[in-house]
Amino acid sequence: MARTILVFFGPPGSGKGTQSDMLGEYLGLPAISTGELLRREQKTGSVLGNHVKKLMASGKMLGVTLMDHILRHRLAKSDAKRGFLLDGYPRKLEQLGHLLTMTKPVDRLYFIVIELTDKEVLRRLANRRVCDCGASYHLIYNKPKRANKCDLCGQTIYQRADDKPAIIKQRLKYYHAWTKPMLEKASGRGSIIFINGEQSIDKIQKELRSKLKSFGIPKKKK
Ligand SMILES: [Zn+2]
Repeated sequence: MARTILVFFGPPGSGKGTQSDMLGEYLGLPAISTGELLRREQKTGSVLGNHVKKLMASGKMLGVTLMDHILRHRLAKSDAKRGFLLDGYPRKLEQLGHLLTMTKPVDRLYFIVIELTDKEVLRRLANRRVCDCGASYHLIYNKPKRANKCDLCGQTIYQRADDKPAIIKQRLKYYHAWTKPMLEKASGRGSIIFINGEQSIDKIQKELRSKLKSFGIPKKKK
């Protein structure tokens, strides 16, 4: 069966995870976040999880092989047989190569790029707070009702280790270094869709859906 595969690119803080989740729901396809897969692994306290934790806190990227292994395992699950959305992978040319080997010629690939300036990225992430339950807040645009407490579960919210400014700058450097060559390679295998990330979440989502519709990708059947 031909799969519909949507791969998100965008700097940290561009909201690609949120967009991927919303679009996955709309299309009836699983939205896979490699960051989420890794955070889940860290919480298990396994040797692999602790290794991942150290690397993420330093802003470094995981070895290509390790990430590929985790991803390949996830894509083999039955919910991904019609297609999937991917956020957080690939981050290197080499990983893009791996991803392409996991696809078949009949699969339809779309690479979605959410664009945002570095200045805006720093402004957004410095104020981002997260909760262990998965909720995410912004101290200016999406404040919790009680200071530092999650609205959903009441736990204390915190800044992710990889959201500190020095780490963000490091992540942006990686992002810029790898994205251009990746898009050049990707353009030979699928369509590239650019979206202005400095719009509201709903507006970005609406634009995405209408662009996909123009490519003939329908929403899920009820
Ligand atoms: Zn919570």
